[in-house]
Amino acid sequence: MKRILFLSIFLISLLCVGVAPINTARAATQFTSRAPEAAPEIALTFDDGPNPVFTPQVLHILDNYGVKATFFCIGEQAQEYPGLVRRIRQAGDALGVHGWDHTALTKLSPDEVDQQLRSASIAIQQAAGTTPTVFRPPYGSTDRTVVDVASTLGLTQVLWSVDTDDWQRPGTKAIVNAALKHAQDRGVILMHDGGGNRSETVAALPQIITALQQRGFTFITL
Ligand code: ZN
Repeated sequence: MKRILFLSIFLISLLCVGVAPINTARAATQFTSRAPEAAPEIALTFDDGPNPVFTPQVLHILDNYGVKATFFCIGEQAQEYPGLVRRIRQAGDALGVHGWDHTALTKLSPDEVDQQLRSASIAIQQAAGTTPTVFRPPYGSTDRTVVDVASTLGLTQVLWSVDTDDWQRPGTKAIVNAALKHAQDRGVILMHDGGGNRSETVAALPQIITALQQRGFTFITL
């Protein structure tokens, strides 16, 4: 139920970027069904892994704080490091698809989009024994075709509401500030556990979690 509520945000957000809506009537209904006094919820998400250096560090921090997150894995990384995908799953974190090789999906034919998402989903399934139900398009590059193709594979699109820009390595403090400044109920924070040196992200993560916990946020997966 919480997951459906959460995904509703992104269906609405699709409207805002001009992509045709999916089931927005249901989304509107569920927005109003939530008790106003409920604790605010937020999702930590990590893209571009799994990475043999940084994914274990992120998992260790999450475990220390008793927090769950969602990892959007690149298919070829999942194929190369199936043990890490399995660890993510075994830690109770969620797995999503981030394409096979991080190609912008809007540049591809529908068949190629299908191949990107399908092969990545299979790699994750084979590693972790669970079939992903969410995907995040690389670069946030999406359109109706991408959403429709993903839908045929049972994948719901998830974007983000808070971009920490951690991939640019702006410094730990800047990552923490970006995450906290825009954090809000049912927000989704975008970070990276792969694709480069993520030591700043790793350093920022305990501060982000601590501050959000102090604000009363509950961490959910997608
Ligand atoms: Zn990415």
